Amino acid sequence: MNTERRISTLKETLSQRPLEHGKRATYITVCRCLQCRAANSRYSCERAAAQQEGDCRGLVPADKTRQHLQALSKKGVGYKSVAEAAGVSKTILARVIWGKRLHVRANTERAVLAITAEAVADEGYFDRLQLVLHQCRDGLLRAMLRSARRGIHLGDA
Ligand SMILES: [Zn+2]
Repeated sequence: MNTERRISTLKETLSQRPLEHGKRATYITVCRCLQCRAANSRYSCERAAAQQEGDCRGLVPADKTRQHLQALSKKGVGYKSVAEAAGVSKTILARVIWGKRLHVRANTERAVLAITAEAVADEGYFDRLQLVLHQCRDGLLRAMLRSARRGIHLGDA
């Protein structure tokens, strides 16, 4: 989506709800009040500082990202797990794999390339462990609830 279209889509979305002042999106689309100008200025300053620190968000070809995702996929690591581990959008990675997105932000590429199958496997281990713990806790709570109800029913009888 090009910038013009993105802004007009944003304008459309924002026109359907009350204006939120102090947001850069509001500044870009409709408002030039002090709060919105400050938000835009703050964003610009933060970006300039981050760029000086080497945080480049420029677009790069998505080829390396796609190849890395395919290699991870062969090792049994899907794009959703990669997205979660890398802290990037699942949708963007899906579109990269399907060839619908030919460019990604440089920091997205960096985050995805840093992911290894081993790292994701470890993450998965803790996720599964957490799930088991939740299930145990829920099972215990249900059992307590059941016995509490039974107690009330016995008392009523
Ligand atoms: Zn405003």
